[in-house]
Amino acid sequence: MELHDENPFKIRSYQSALISLERGDQDIMSLSEEELAKIQGVGKSMVDAILQLRETDTFPFLEELLAKTPEGILEVLQIKGLGPKKVKTLWLELGITSTHELMEACQSGKVAKIKGFGEKTQHTIIENLEFKASNSGKWLYADIEEIIGQLKETFQALAPEADLAVVGDFARQMEIITEAEFLLASDELASVKSNIKAMDSIEWILLESGPRTLRGKMQEIDLRVSIHFCSKADFLWKKLSLVAAPLHLEGHVDEKETIAQKLQKKDYSSEEEFFSINSLQFIPAEMREGYGEIELAKENKIPELLTDRHLKGILHNHSTYSDGKHSLRQMAEYCRELGYEYLGISDHSKTAFYAGGLTEDQITKQHQEIDALNKEMAPFRIFKGIESDILSDGKLDYADDVLASFDFIVASVHSILNMDIKRATNRLITAIENPYTTILGHPTGRLLLRRQGYPIDHKAIIDACAANNVVIEINANPWRLDLDWRWVRYAMDQGVMLSINPDAHAMEGYADMKYGVLVGRKGGLTKEMTLNAMSADQIKAYFYSRLEKIKVKK
Ligand SMILES: [Zn+2]
Ligand SMILES: [Zn+2]
Repeated sequence: MELHDENPFKIRSYQSALISLERGDQDIMSLSEEELAKIQGVGKSMVDAILQLRETDTFPFLEELLAKTPEGILEVLQIKGLGPKKVKTLWLELGITSTHELMEACQSGKVAKIKGFGEKTQHTIIENLEFKASNSGKWLYADIEEIIGQLKETFQALAPEADLAVVGDFARQMEIITEAEFLLASDELASVKSNIKAMDSIEWILLESGPRTLRGKMQEIDLRVSIHFCSKADFLWKKLSLVAAPLHLEGHVDEKETIAQKLQKKDYSSEEEFFSINSLQFIPAEMREGYGEIELAKENKIPELLTDRHLKGILHNHSTYSDGKHSLRQMAEYCRELGYEYLGISDHSKTAFYAGGLTEDQITKQHQEIDALNKEMAPFRIFKGIESDILSDGKLDYADDVLASFDFIVASVHSILNMDIKRATNRLITAIENPYTTILGHPTGRLLLRRQGYPIDHKAIIDACAANNVVIEINANPWRLDLDWRWVRYAMDQGVMLSINPDAHAMEGYADMKYGVLVGRKGGLTKEMTLNAMSADQIKAYFYSRLEKIKVKK
């Protein structure tokens, strides 16, 4: 609508209806016409649109807009930093109707010359186009999990007697997956292969395949698939070879031989035995990355890794007080229902006005509600927190007496994400040195496959957390997974605890904790070094002792 200069009031009415529907709990697929009309912000024309969408997956006004929009423009609209206004200008002035044309126009310098664009915008567009191109065919682990499971079932059904395993990056729980990789062992390979080749859902690319491997692409989505074939006798060593990352395989077990060389001896009958006959502690699949795990295994220093069961509470969550979908009570009751001992609520702070950040008055009100719920729901406990914005100079955005009224504070950056490494690092360190900061939230602000985080000096940040007794979050949202698992061991070695936080904006968001645990395990995270593996009593004492220390200093 913005692209086609529709009436601004009409645009706003769609926006407010959308916000209202997204916030609400109603299932718009099943509500009656009368019930739909009662929803705030949903007027008569919106009700009609919803009813038609239910019937036909579209509605005339949408079709009308799509008919006058070149298809490639929809792709251009997805480039970060280009709003509908700018896209329209590019379309009218330079005739750009695809990302390909946009890249050419940027490279020849034409975009910079348009009024309102300039060199800097042009440069940013190029960067964002390149980022997008480099991410094509890549998937978040969470988004591809189900499809990989279904593929495995399909292959197994086509070859019921076969030994089958998922291998490659997915088997190591990597945060980004570029290929669904399988190993299939059968003594009837010829017939199994022809069954698999006949599948409709995958286009096999024979030029890239070989006698022992089929490679292809899924028909419906941009995902590469490969299957390696072997005899049943070779299954174990092949699996170990294909699950491990190349760096792990190149790692030396002793002066003479690498993991890859040891594997080829085939003198073992289980994964456990492979490690034990080579005087190595067992290395869990997700750690076989070549990140120092072989050295740890030699010294028997691979710890017992964190599991879902160890987590006793859920910290860093939002409610309807800021931009969450569910009320404080709903968030608390569901958390208790899942078997957790406590919930840490941390809505947005006042600087995040776009996300309904809390004023001082709203904080007082929320604290009263938490006190009442804590009486009612005991022994379940809600801890009072806030996700306080880190301002550009590193300060938190409330006065000290307000900060002192919380049990814990998650300090996060949400604005001015384009600082250089020095400024961004100093900004975070100032926030870490604030005595009220309990947890550093999503340290780099990255959104996987969507935007790179701001650059930070990870060592300096982790060292500052160690010096100031600040916990670092592993934000478990599959888009974030930030702190990156590659820094988990360094953090633990400095004595810095990690917290698996879902950053839930709705009850369903708690389920993301799983992805935080998966990447935590990759980094070697233990229960002892995980803040929310503490019981309610332990964490209460932990928060309390931190606050006491601040009082003593004053
Ligand atoms: Zn945040
Ligand atoms: Zn948050």
